[in-house]
Amino acid sequence: MTTSSSEQDLVDAFRSAFGHAPDGVWMAPGRVNLIGEHTDYNEGFVLPFAIDLRARVAVKALPGTRTVRLVSAQGSAEVQEFSLGAIEPRGDYGWSTYPLGVAWALEQHGIAVPGFELYLDSTVPLGSGLSSSHAIECATITALAELSGATLSPQELVLLTQKGENDFVGAPTGILDQSASLRGERGHAVFLDCRDQHVELIPFDAKADGLVMLVIDTRVAHSHSDGGYASRRAACEAGAAALGVPALRDLGVDDLPRAQALLDDITFRRVRHVVTEDARVLETVATLTSAGAAAIGGLLDASHVSMRDDFEISCPELDLAVSAAREAGAIGARMTGGGFGGSAIALTPRALESEVRTAVLDAFREAGFTEPHLFTVTPAEGARRLA
Ligand code: ADP
Ligand code: MG
Repeated sequence: MTTSSSEQDLVDAFRSAFGHAPDGVWMAPGRVNLIGEHTDYNEGFVLPFAIDLRARVAVKALPGTRTVRLVSAQGSAEVQEFSLGAIEPRGDYGWSTYPLGVAWALEQHGIAVPGFELYLDSTVPLGSGLSSSHAIECATITALAELSGATLSPQELVLLTQKGENDFVGAPTGILDQSASLRGERGHAVFLDCRDQHVELIPFDAKADGLVMLVIDTRVAHSHSDGGYASRRAACEAGAAALGVPALRDLGVDDLPRAQALLDDITFRRVRHVVTEDARVLETVATLTSAGAAAIGGLLDASHVSMRDDFEISCPELDLAVSAAREAGAIGARMTGGGFGGSAIALTPRALESEVRTAVLDAFREAGFTEPHLFTVTPAEGARRLA
């Protein structure tokens, strides 16, 4: 294997863990959802981008064996060992469930996956809503597909990663995260139609417009997030059924008066969020293409208000992150991800970045909240082989 010096650290770490060199190094990024929240399971539109924080995996195939050995630089130094013949869906494997899940999904698809050794090193923060778990899965499936000699389209990789998450890990997630991680490109956002899974890359280059994308990780995860997700999903399904459409994606803003007349207040507001959010995603795509990132601030703000007031998935920490960032000069800000905690994003003029950071930190301190983590991300390339 030839390695560029930038991956030598990972090759060396693999060698110290397993005693020999890997076959190669692959990577997949985390993601931020620019706009389009809770629209995915309503068969609507989302606009995430792959970020410059990523999981790298050094992998060696062990042909003729079923043995899997795994080490994470962020975990214990101990090697986790499994047999592909003995792993069970929804087993309790800790973080190993993510690489095992995609190996399992490939085998379910009829691909003969060899045993393998894998060393993981990731810069995606865990549990901040940036999909550290999908970064692992997407890096691993990209490596294993190649090492198995399988030729799979990006679309097939997306669906097999979803199968691993849904059926093996046991998380009822859609295709947003892995579509961004597998299909992202530098300087672009990934416009995804969750009905037909069509993907289009949309130029999104905040830097060129003198902006930075600031992530404010509130480091809170409110305990009602699981129940909140299920009840929002149920309200959307009830709304679609009452209005006689297969999914809320089939409604437009013109349908909202009829929806208001038919539905109870809560269901109506849930429906209004999804319908207007779909419209905002389409408008963001059009605006990025015609006018650039500096023109989408109002859409980000409107998305946050809709999630706060209609979908009711924000929380005091996210609202404060958004309002403090906006008051200090961000041109648009919104919570991102499923809600009830996690991260907010603030599109910020580069010249005001330090003011915005200080304002957010001060506001959190004054409110007595946990100190948030602040960092910037740029739209980066999706999963690929590095060495
Ligand atoms: P998110 O994907 O939003 O970051 P999840 O709860 O879905 O949050 O995934 C976080 C889990 O992924 C962690 O609990 C851990 O099991 C696993 N994980 C992520 N990154 C690493 C890593 N570098 N090393 C070990 N495990 C990791
Ligand atoms: Mg995850």
